[in-house]
Formats: sequence, C-alpha cells, structure tokens
Amino acid sequence: MSHATGNFDPMATAREGTYWQPFTANRRLSANPAPRTMVGAEGAYYKTLEGNRLFDTLSGLWCTPLGHAHPLIAEAVKTQVETLDFAPSFQLTHPGALQLAQRIATMAPDGMNHVFFANSGSEAVDTALKVALGYHRIRAEGNRFRMIGRERGYHGVGFGGMSVGGIVSNRKMFAAGMMPGVDHLRHPYVPEQMAFSRGQPAWGAEMADDLERLVALHDASTIAAVIVEPVQGSTGVLVPPVGYLQRLREICTRHGILLIFDEVITGFGRMGAAFGAQRFGVTPDMICFAKAVTNGIVPMGGVIVSDEIYNTFMTGPESAIEFCHGYTYSGHPLAAAVGNVVLDVMEREDLFAQVRALEPVLEESIHTLSDLPVVADIRNIGLTAAIDLKPAEGKPGARGLAIFEAGLQQGQLLRCTADTISFGPPFISTAQELRDMVATVRNLISAVA
Ligand code: PMP
Repeated sequence: MSHATGNFDPMATAREGTYWQPFTANRRLSANPAPRTMVGAEGAYYKTLEGNRLFDTLSGLWCTPLGHAHPLIAEAVKTQVETLDFAPSFQLTHPGALQLAQRIATMAPDGMNHVFFANSGSEAVDTALKVALGYHRIRAEGNRFRMIGRERGYHGVGFGGMSVGGIVSNRKMFAAGMMPGVDHLRHPYVPEQMAFSRGQPAWGAEMADDLERLVALHDASTIAAVIVEPVQGSTGVLVPPVGYLQRLREICTRHGILLIFDEVITGFGRMGAAFGAQRFGVTPDMICFAKAVTNGIVPMGGVIVSDEIYNTFMTGPESAIEFCHGYTYSGHPLAAAVGNVVLDVMEREDLFAQVRALEPVLEESIHTLSDLPVVADIRNIGLTAAIDLKPAEGKPGARGLAIFEAGLQQGQLLRCTADTISFGPPFISTAQELRDMVATVRNLISAVA
C-alpha cells in the first residue's frame, strides 16, 4: 500500500476498511461510501463527496449548535495556535482555561462553581464517577462504591460510562469487563402512558421511586452516585416526566447519594437554558458536559462540581490533597479558546432565546407527522425531537436505515438508530428550515411505509 498522498483514493480506502469507523457497520459501507463521505460544511449544511448539500438535522452529533465554518471560531483557533498552542495541564495552566472555567461556573446553577476539564463526554463521565468515589472516601464513607445508571442511558464508552450505561447493544460484546457494583434504574419511558406527548409527559414522576427499590436492595451506605441524562438523548429523546427529576433529587439527598446529570447533549442551550438543570429546576451535585461547549470544533468535555464536593476535596486529610486524575489535554488551549468564543457568540446572539423561539416551531411541525400510520410515537423538548417508526415485520431497523439512506439523496442528513429518527438541529436554523426538514421526513417515511 502506498503512503504517497498523490495515490490516495478515499473511496478505495473506505471500501477496504483501512479506517475502522466508530459505531459504524463498516461492512455496509463497502457498496458506495461516497454519499457518506463529508467533504465540506458551512452554516447548517454539509457537502458530500457526491456533491449533495445536506441539512445538518442533528448538529453533527448533537455538537455544532452554531453551525459550521464560523469565522470567529476559525480566527480564535488560528490566533491561539500562534500564541500558545499547548500548555501542560498538570501543575500549570493558562488564561484561556481559567477564563472558560469561570464562565461555565457563572452559567451553572447556584452552588456549582468548580470545573474539571476533560476531552470528551466519555472522559467527563468517568471523571464524575471518580470524583464521587473520592468524595465519599475523603468523608470516611469509602464503602459507598456502587454506581446507579439507568436503562437506555448513554454515558459514553469508557469502562465507567459503559457500565453505568443502559444500551444493551453497547454492553453485550463487553459484558465480561463491566465495572463491579453497578445497577440500573428502570427507564422512565412508558409509551402506553405518554405517547405523542409534547414536552414533558404529565404522567410518571413516581417512576423515580424505582431508586428506593435499589436503595432497599443494596443499602444506601453502599451507593456512591446516581447518573442520569436529564433527557435521554442517544436512545431517542426520552423526556423526563414532570416531577421525575425532582423526586430523584429528593431521594438522593435523603440517602446521601450524589446525583450526576450527564448533560453532554442537554448542556449549553439545547433545552433553551444553559443546562437541563435549570430548564427542569433541579440542581444535581455534578454536571457532565462536552460537545456544544466548543461547538464540536475542538474536542472538550468536563465536569461542573458543587461547592460542597470541591470544598470536601480541599479541606480533606492531607492524603487527599491531590485529585489523582487528569488528562494531558485537560483544558487544552485550543479547546479553551474555542469554548470562550462559543460562549461569547451564544451570549451575544442570545441563542438560548433562539432555541426557546424554535421549540414551538419544531414541536408543531413534527407532531403533524402523527397521522402517518407507520409512526408509533413522536417526542420533543427544547431543540430536540424523535420519531419512532413501527418496525417492518421481521426486519427491525430496516425502515430507519432506508430513511437514512434516502435522506442523503433528499438533502437531509438524518440520525436514525434502529427505527428511531432523532433531531437536534443547529440553533442557527430558521423556522423554514425546520419545516422543510419535517416535510422531507414526511415524504421519506411515506416512501418506506
Ligand atoms: N454522555 C452523553 C449523554 C452523550 O450523549 C454522549 C455522546 N453522545 C456521551 C456521554 C459520550 O460523549 P463522547 O462521544 O464525546 O465520549
């Protein structure tokens, strides 16, 4: 195989599987990878190798709310590379990381004023789980080692995140290597009670009492933390019932269990507020974030930690003087520079208000698809939505795949997981773009039904 770039043929490389792609049925790519190969992006659109222009219905992977090729981000990257391209993160720091931490703390709920940087959602989750273990140990409650996740939850792919995660297919292959002491809450999605609800379902707060079942089973004194996504994003926008998160908070507090919100998708405006915590009126002990903080341009993640947790580390015994955890690229200068610009733009252009203005547009238009016989459910909140299709007989996932592939030819880059289509368009989308997206999806669903 030649290493000369002159001989490089992207299609041949894709067909040969030289690049083993993440979360991709690589063997299916071999037929014709061109429509799936992105060569450009601007604003709310991608351009494929075939030359098609695609509306970015999921903001990349829920991560580019400001759209692509933002001139201020490009400028910030260039300036930062020329000024300070890297600074060791251990024992040293730089102004960009300090400033970004301070700004994130300002946006976070009251009493959450400390930020630990990582490079992805997976790293943010693993960091939060380790903070929880350290916190309890410093308080002489080191027997609290159990982590409680939730069915259908997605918390990335590290061993911690995989273990607290609740997507069966992501666990099966690695079942032998799960973290010990993990249990799962039942997921709070009961279609019989809440199908086609708009925003938060009215029914279902009492499903949070499932945590009491696990407390009774394991004893609170062994449980370190509960981790949930306020809205379960990757499994198709499962919206928490009214009062559900409040009840989880109350049970955690009563039993001395830390509550972690994984806001990798819901953080930085997608719920029309800085965090889901504010949208839903519930303050956790930690918030995991990633994705939108840098508009997906330079990888970054992190954890916002409560004053109580941080102060425990700062005033604990001498042996705990250092949190022995961190990444070479924690608070990377490029990521921090981009993060600072992203937060500038979000604030200056009042983009959370834009999300709140677009939410009813998306809600109205997407629920018009409920008349299609093949549609089983439609859900929405903030600038997110999902459509469940009834699976074709004997072929689960086939309709989703057909719609994804047809979408590539119809100007829409759609996110289809099995027979669920999820939406998280950029905050810069226009109302008309959202209506056009739904109109195309109507045609695509009708065609595969
Ligand atoms: N947590 C949640 C809620 C996510 O949605 C994701 C990614 N979709 C992750 C964690 C993992 O993030 P990453 O892919 O950056 O590791």
